[in-house]
Formats: sequence, structure tokens, C-alpha cells
Amino acid sequence: MTLDLFPTYRGCMEYFCLGCGQRFPTDELHYTCPECGGVFLLDNILFDELKKTPGTKWRELFDSRAASKRTALRGIFRFYELMAPVLEEEDIIYLGEGNTPIIESSPSLNSQTGLKTAYKNDGQNPSASFKDRGMACGFSYLRSLIRQHDWDQVLTVCASTGDTSAAAALYASYVGDAIKSVVILPHGKVTPAQLAQPLGSGAIVLEVPGVFDDCMKVVEHLADNYRVALLNSKNAWRILGQESYAFECAQWFNWDLKDKCIFVPIGNAGNITAIMAGFLKLHTLDIITNLPRIFGVQSHHADPVYRYYAVDDPNEREYAPVTVSPSVAQAAMIGNPVSFPRVKYFAEKFETIGGKGSFQVIQVSEQQIMDSMIQANRNGHIACTQGGESFAGAKRALELNLVSANELCVLDSTAHQLKFVDFQNMYFDNSFPPEFEIKPDTTLSNKPTLVISPEEKDGLSDADYTRITADKVVAKLGLKKK
Ligand SMILES: *Cc1c(COP(=O)(O)O)cnc(C)c1O
Ligand SMILES: [Zn+2]
Repeated sequence: MTLDLFPTYRGCMEYFCLGCGQRFPTDELHYTCPECGGVFLLDNILFDELKKTPGTKWRELFDSRAASKRTALRGIFRFYELMAPVLEEEDIIYLGEGNTPIIESSPSLNSQTGLKTAYKNDGQNPSASFKDRGMACGFSYLRSLIRQHDWDQVLTVCASTGDTSAAAALYASYVGDAIKSVVILPHGKVTPAQLAQPLGSGAIVLEVPGVFDDCMKVVEHLADNYRVALLNSKNAWRILGQESYAFECAQWFNWDLKDKCIFVPIGNAGNITAIMAGFLKLHTLDIITNLPRIFGVQSHHADPVYRYYAVDDPNEREYAPVTVSPSVAQAAMIGNPVSFPRVKYFAEKFETIGGKGSFQVIQVSEQQIMDSMIQANRNGHIACTQGGESFAGAKRALELNLVSANELCVLDSTAHQLKFVDFQNMYFDNSFPPEFEIKPDTTLSNKPTLVISPEEKDGLSDADYTRITADKVVAKLGLKKK
């Protein structure tokens, strides 16, 4: 296993339906099960071959690949054999996704919370959210299909709370003519930055009234009746790509996940599925010996997964979609998560190995989400509102005695702070519509101050302008002469 060579191992991927258990080959585009409509997982039926290599060897290989200059191995496909080992090097699209850093909270922030936290900044992906991980895998697979079938154009479609469309449009625009990207957004329910992204990438942007769940129904109708490639997280290739988050966490901590708790906001539940699946894969191959503990986090305004797991006895649990209320964790504001069956599937496996308490779901309030995001970012982080949700989840877990101060809470900031500045502004201006149920701490309010007005500047010489402005700054800050 030499550094920098493209891997020679090839697996054989099949779709595996969580509804009826049937399997389907992956040389055709499938979105959901053609037999029962269930959601798929992707299964490498030659996975057992990988068990012949000891865990230590895998760790060495992945560590050596961390220094690779080969672009196909620099992103999520550093973990090629665990990802989609059917792709050829020419299929793999690398736009700089993955390998996002884990930043430990400052001692000052930790002393405020009594927790030990760190953020994995998935907002440092190319389109500024974790969705790039899944798209890199999904689009690489599409490229391999296009190459093998000689297709001339594929139309990709997705519904989005903002970030899926930004990522899909970015990857589609890189591939060029072979792929045309259409995104369907809930009108007025994505931030200006998230709307600007697919527009800037040249995607066809269609808006519909309603919330994400309404967009999703339209998209599913299209997928059932027309030849389009759907890029929502029902698409199992995206889940596969998002497993890289787990692989990177493990590698960052030198493959030792003892006393690590991973906090993940849940929307459509694709990401938490992928993260659990990824850690389980590492465990099966002896690459890690301890599973971390996984905490899903949901807002009280969109919490169907929390409600399900809030019932302690597994036999009494009943899944029911909820009607969502406005949430600052807008990207997770989903009442009927499509990946719920996947969560159930992996949570059970997780608990079998990790024991009771290795998978849990925490509920937090909108207030706690906003306060936590503001607090994190005033202490050196770049958390989005969903990242605030992760942090709020960790604090809530401490309150409930579910974590202790000697564990490290790794918080997923699923997007970049800058995508969600409008919520920060509402916090600073105290202008949240009542349905958010958020009363900002106005002592944290932060606004720019205009030092000198354009009228005052008018007619001043350059020298006067500099002196007068500087004097005003001095007066404002109370500066002493040196
Ligand atoms: C999509 C998204 C989520 C929700 O992830 P799911 O996989 O749908 O649970 C959370 N945060 C951000 C920023 C997202 O873009
Ligand atoms: Zn099925």
C-alpha cells in the first residue's frame, strides 16, 4: 500500500431497501425502492474482503493518504475503500470538500459552560455546508454512470432548505454540459446567501410557496414520473459521502474515540444516519475500538425524531410527523424526515455495540439555539444556527447528566456562520417575529457606529478629514496619548 497510488481494490455496490429488504444493482439510477417506495442504503457486498486488512494497516494507509497530492484522494475519497470503491479516478470530483478542522473551545468558553467542547467546522466546505460531502460522492457516481452509459445530459433536481441546492448547483456547474441542475426552494424560507449560491452557480432556481416539506412532495412527484436524478438525501450516494464526517473525526483524534460525544442537528436525518453508519464501518474493520456517543439535537419547533426516542420503551415508540413552526435552525426545520427509517436502523446497531445511551436525541428551544450560537461566536467559533443547536444540545445534555466534564463534546457546525447572519441581525436588533419565541439578550447586541457622517466629511481636506475622524475615534475609545 504505497502512498499516493490510486487504490486498486474495487467493491460491488448494491442498493438495499430498508422497507422490503430487496437488493438492486447500482448501474441504474434509483432514488427509492421501485418495489415498495422504501429508502435505500448502499451496501458493498465485497466489504468482507476489507476485513483481511488489520485495523492498524488501515489507519496507516489513511494517515499516509493525508499527505497525498492526488486530488482524487484529498477530499472525502481519502477513505476510498469505505466510501464508493467502484469509482474510477477520472470520475471523482474534488472541489475542496472534507477535511474540515475540529477547533477546541477556548478555556474561557469552557469555563462558562462547565463542558469541554470543540466544533467541527463543516461550514468550511466549498459551498459552506456539509452537503458538499454528499454531493461530491453523488456527482462522482453520476459522472461514472454518464461515462459508462454515454448519456448526453442528466437533469438533477433537489428540494432544499438552502444548502442542498447550493451544493448541488456548485457540483453541477463544475461538471458542465453533462449535467443540468434544477433546484426547488420554499419561497422566502431560505436566507439571501443561500438563494444567491445556486443563482451564482447558474442553476435553474424554482420557488414554490410553503415549507421544505412541500417542495419535497413536488420533487418526489417528478422523480416518480420523469427521468431525473434526485439529489435529496433519500439519494443513498449522498449518505455514503457524508460518512466521511465520521472517518475524519476518528482520524483527527488519532483513531481514539473514548470519551468523545458527537452532537449533530437533525433535520431530514441524513447526516446523523451517515455519521452513525461511518463510525460503525470503522468499528467493523477494527479501525476504532470505541464508538463515540452520538447525540442528535432538535428544536422544539421541529422535533419528530426527539419525540420518537423520548419514549423509553422501544416497543411503545411510535413515529409521527409534526407540523413545524418557524425555526432559526432553518436548515433543520423538517417535520417529516425522510431518513427516519435509516436512523432507526443504525441507532439499533449503534446501541447493540455501544450500549444504552450511545445514541440519544436531545430537544432544545429556539432561545437556547440562538443564545448558544451568539455565545460560541463571541468566543472564537464560526457556528451557524444549526451549530448553535448542537451547542445548546450539549448544554442540555449536561443539565440532564447525560455527559460529564471529562468527555469532549464535538459539536457539528453544519454550515458557516455567514449563511445565517440574518438571524444574528434579528438577535441584535431584537426583531424576531413572535412565532420564533426568542427574546435576545440585548446586552450582547452589536451594531456598527458611523464615526463621521458623509455631510461632515464633505469639503474637508484630506488632512483635516483624517485628523477630525481620528479625534472622534480617540474620544469614543477614550485613548490615552503614548
Ligand atoms: C441539511 C442541513 C441540516 C440538516 O441535516 P439532515 O441531514 O437533513 O438532518 C443541518 N444543518 C445544515 C446547515 C444543513 O444544511
Ligand atoms: Zn423496497
